[in-house]
Amino acid sequence: MQLRSSAWVLAGAIAAAAGGSAAIEAQQGPGLTGFSRANAATELEWEGKFKAIPDPDRIRANMKQLAAEPHNLGSPYQKQDADWILNQFKSFGLDAKIEQFDVLFPTPLERKVELVSPGHYQAALKEPPIAEDPTSGQSGQLPTYVAYSADGDVTAPLVYVNYGVPEDYDRLAALGISVKGKIVITRYGNSWRGIKPKLAYAHGAVGCLIYSDPRDDGYFDGDVFPKGPYRPSQGVQRGSVMEMEKYPGDPATPGWGATAGAKRLAREEITNLQKIPVLPISYGDAEPLLKALGGPMAPVEWRGALPITYRVGPGPATVHLVVKSDWKTVPAYDVVARIPGSTFPDDWIVRGNHYDGWVNGAADPISGQSALLEEARAYGELLKQGWKPKRTIIYCAWDGEEPALLGSTEWAETHAEELQQHGVVYINSDGNGRGYLNAGGSHSLESFVNEVAKTITDPETGESAWTRLLKRDLDRAKTDKAKLAVMNGDDIRISALGSGSDYSPFLQHDGVASLSIGYGGEDGGGVYHSIYDDFYWYTHFGDTHFVYGRALAQTYGTLIMRLADADVLPFRFTNVASTVATYEQELEDLTKGPGGTKGFDLVPLNEALASLREAASAYDTALAAAERDGGIYKKPAADLAALNKLLYQSEQKLLSSEGLPERPWYKHTLYAPGFYTGYGVKTLPGVREALERHDWKTAAVQEAALVKALGAYTAQISAATARLTDSGQ
Ligand SMILES: [Zn+2]
Repeated sequence: MQLRSSAWVLAGAIAAAAGGSAAIEAQQGPGLTGFSRANAATELEWEGKFKAIPDPDRIRANMKQLAAEPHNLGSPYQKQDADWILNQFKSFGLDAKIEQFDVLFPTPLERKVELVSPGHYQAALKEPPIAEDPTSGQSGQLPTYVAYSADGDVTAPLVYVNYGVPEDYDRLAALGISVKGKIVITRYGNSWRGIKPKLAYAHGAVGCLIYSDPRDDGYFDGDVFPKGPYRPSQGVQRGSVMEMEKYPGDPATPGWGATAGAKRLAREEITNLQKIPVLPISYGDAEPLLKALGGPMAPVEWRGALPITYRVGPGPATVHLVVKSDWKTVPAYDVVARIPGSTFPDDWIVRGNHYDGWVNGAADPISGQSALLEEARAYGELLKQGWKPKRTIIYCAWDGEEPALLGSTEWAETHAEELQQHGVVYINSDGNGRGYLNAGGSHSLESFVNEVAKTITDPETGESAWTRLLKRDLDRAKTDKAKLAVMNGDDIRISALGSGSDYSPFLQHDGVASLSIGYGGEDGGGVYHSIYDDFYWYTHFGDTHFVYGRALAQTYGTLIMRLADADVLPFRFTNVASTVATYEQELEDLTKGPGGTKGFDLVPLNEALASLREAASAYDTALAAAERDGGIYKKPAADLAALNKLLYQSEQKLLSSEGLPERPWYKHTLYAPGFYTGYGVKTLPGVREALERHDWKTAAVQEAALVKALGAYTAQISAATARLTDSGQ
């Protein structure tokens, strides 16, 4: 009976969700959060006009142009792309310019991988052109390599280390196998690629190969390119292996802009370059090497999908590895367009997507850049029709993201002071695909993202992007209880941001609240960072009709217009409080886990969270009251400006001035890339990583820094509440 009645409730709830976006949106009631009645009506009118403008055919044409030739940082076609984007912005009527930075970017002079015994195999290290794919045979492609590897020439026995994450080395130790003096071969996946050689070096290895196992993005998942979207046998994933978990951007200018004449570190002074030679290889090249390994069988979870018996080694396979790079400084061209605000010109909404690829880079990054240009064109149209955004909107096409978030980091470092004064929100994308809305970012913007997602029509289902996401969460929830939890949650959760794209310097260094959004999940594939990520692949296997490109432009356009036009900015803090509480619970579990210390004191953190919860709900209550009686919208513009500044500068209060242990560039106390996982986010990173290492002393120091930051954040929210309730003003 119990089960049956809960099934009924559930059926009703799902029916409500399935009722379509209109039904759900109706529940939101009239009005628009942060807008007076009159302004809400005008805003919705302009948003409607905006949404009608982005055109899939134009997004397609943008991609065709920008991805026509290899356009990595420093290449001739990348400069052409920069000029083309600049002229596009100008043709939309926007004020645009190029900001140049000079950055250290090594490219290959010499690469060699050979099996020297038993037998001999010379790795091809080359992706062959494919007849159907017209750009795959172009000249000017960067050879297969990883940037910021050490130069070196080593010959040593090989050891297979699975994904090369810390647990894999524990497992090897249990097997009695050391990688000291060896070359390791590791597969892509489970961690940021730069972590793999870093850990290999820490364990004494002298070289590192990283290969794409067909189990992870090759024939195990589906047909390979050109028959299907997955990685062919000679496809290689290029990438960066800079230790960006220490700091991203130009390695020679940590923390300051790589402008002309800026002070630069000598190469020996730089701390985030790899210490051993590293090369990425295809599974075609990996197979003969892995096949020649002896020693114990690899643990079951370590085995991939090659038709071989996976063994760990060491040897008898012995490998000769050579890497030599040209360590040159090249120009990075950021293209920046500005739409000045009419009422609050000193409040900046910053929007960016990179436009450099490893090779032709159609999916990564041009699918996002092409949509960004459509947003900018649509704004140009609206400006001609008389739209006047209250706040300044800044559109950025970043160069040099692939090697090390170079263009965005140098810009965010150069303009750090202005960004901390004026930066309202930074909004990022990095390519786009087909399927579900995928959002990550500052949790103070979580409610806002939900509100906007309800207004975007999903191209495949015709329901809202938000409803589609909710249905997926329902599908994924395994139990009735979990399904009810999904239904009862007010907002769909957004994820925390680690690293791996251009939001990192804005959020984690400057403390500007950030969002990163894209569609995806239905268009799997294995051409990431290969020559096959091109227009042909994208128009056969990606968002082939560019309708999700249009949805992306509509999503961003709506987010940005609402931020630019709101009377009161849409920051909400109860979502922050509840999300951080879940992180705190994870810390408690850590202290209870095997090897945990029962004595570690999380009481100060709990108290700080209780105060935050209280302040956040007081702000919500005050805001709701002020909106209900409309009093807030009668305040003088200067008062609203002061309130808004308190709101958007709140994120900066979450920074600690000392930054994280061993990596002071990262200052955010809630979000950072993991020191041993790289891309993957570590929330409450200072405390969490110290607890994981059983370093109780550092954990206590970091807890104090976190509590201090949360206290300052809470005080800022309370100051905003006081502004709201101060009726005399
Ligand atoms: Zn990218």
